[in-house]
Amino acid sequence: MTLNLDREHIYIHCPRCNFWARPFLRQIRHRETIVCGGCKANIRLDDHLGSFRKAQRQVNKALEELEEQLGNLTINIRL
Ligand SMILES: [Zn+2]
Repeated sequence: MTLNLDREHIYIHCPRCNFWARPFLRQIRHRETIVCGGCKANIRLDDHLGSFRKAQRQVNKALEELEEQLGNLTINIRL
């Protein structure tokens, strides 16, 4: 089981005019440039120090561990 965070949004604000934008995490991963809805400046998205990639790996590792634990789960039912 893996979780794809690409379609999740994050709130950022324009460093020039403070207008809010909601880029997809995929756009940050791809270091895309978006246009500010307020002042029309180009905002270049950057995954600083690879933090998004690290978070994605950690989430998927946690899901793998959860899946493993669920596989070990035994339920005793008394009738
Ligand atoms: Zn702006």
